[in-house]
Amino acid sequence: MNKKSLKLYARAKKVIPGGVNSPVRAFLSVNQKPFFVKKAHGQYLVDEDNNKIIDYIGSWGAQILGHGHSKIKNTLTASLRKGITYGAPCSREVELAERITKIYPSINKVRMVSSGTEATMSAIRLARGYTGRNKILKFNGCYHGHGDSFLIKAGSGAATFGVPNSLGVPPGLAKETISTNFNDIESVKKVVKKYKLACIIVEPIAGNMNFIRSDENFLHELRTICSENDIVLIFDEVMTGFRVALGGAQSLYSIKPDLTTLGKVLGGGLPVGAFGGKSKIMNQLSPDGGVYQAGTLSGNPLAMDAGLKTLDLISKKNYFKNLEKITRQLTDGINELSRKYNKKIYADSQGGMFGIYFTDKKVVNYESISKSDIKKFIQFFKFMLKNKIYFAPSAYEAGFVSSAHTANNINYTLDIFEKWIKN
Ligand SMILES: *Cc1c(COP(=O)(O)O)cnc(C)c1O
Repeated sequence: MNKKSLKLYARAKKVIPGGVNSPVRAFLSVNQKPFFVKKAHGQYLVDEDNNKIIDYIGSWGAQILGHGHSKIKNTLTASLRKGITYGAPCSREVELAERITKIYPSINKVRMVSSGTEATMSAIRLARGYTGRNKILKFNGCYHGHGDSFLIKAGSGAATFGVPNSLGVPPGLAKETISTNFNDIESVKKVVKKYKLACIIVEPIAGNMNFIRSDENFLHELRTICSENDIVLIFDEVMTGFRVALGGAQSLYSIKPDLTTLGKVLGGGLPVGAFGGKSKIMNQLSPDGGVYQAGTLSGNPLAMDAGLKTLDLISKKNYFKNLEKITRQLTDGINELSRKYNKKIYADSQGGMFGIYFTDKKVVNYESISKSDIKKFIQFFKFMLKNKIYFAPSAYEAGFVSSAHTANNINYTLDIFEKWIKN
């Protein structure tokens, strides 16, 4: 049933570190070997052994329309006829930038890059250049890509500077990153009293320690604290942008950050990231200002076209209402079954993004999600995959529903879930 995948994995391990180009794909946290994908369409992945699998990840959220949507494919085909990359400006970059500034009122100007990591790295450099300060504040469990300044865990004692959690990150740089608890405004106040911060960066709805909502007050107080202390507030919406709502989490909470980072959905599946915000800050970027940032493939025309078409399709009336409804069908179903069999599992969702928690306590930060029953999660993951349903291979990841998923897909998923949970 997975012979070809196993063979490919063995080959891959010889020439690619760990056999994968991004660690989570190796399935190490579920003690299993990964499957290799032959093709994907709509809500399905087809692996090399021809198993057709319902996909609740969608390339980590990017494929909101489902895999290989026909309109995106047609757009790309037409775009290809005009070349692949120019290394010079083109109209589609302007169009996409205009579209982003319309959807995100907090963004006056935006620069395109090729990944979420590039967007966040550039955003903190810009914040540092703009404020003339070095220290940044992030929250434990929030992920902002693999830039050196973000691979940091909290040091000993609360509200103090961080230490690297990857080899190769200079401790001197790690000291410039302060890390504290998500949803804990008191600790933020302590940090702000103690250090001059360039920026506070936050996932306004966390999606990289499972799916965790911000308290309404937490985000509003962050906004106030940043305004009062001239700290740049960065919402990292690489995951939540165009995903929890068209206008991202900032539209749901009605908060205007100073800078926003975007990615995933924005490229329609092609490698795109973006960062943007207030003109006053964005004007500090090269060539207008002194903060350097560049990219050979930035604003790539194929990627711009895929992004523009994606935004067209997800801007349609009721798009998010329908997406939310189908996602809710899944999470409501899980909650119902969990109650029925008296299990300590629950689920939550917003837009096309969801979380399943293997605990009955309300999850509010990294500490509380780390208390979930990982053994149970691994059993769940394996059982679902055996039945050709693919959830994220880690209890610390969120899940994603696309507009290609059907009520039948969800019913099938819930049937299998019931089979598992009743034991
Ligand atoms: C995925 C993600 C990133 C990194 O984006 P890449 O394209 O993987 O570099 C940054 N921030 C958040 C919130 C993300 O979810």
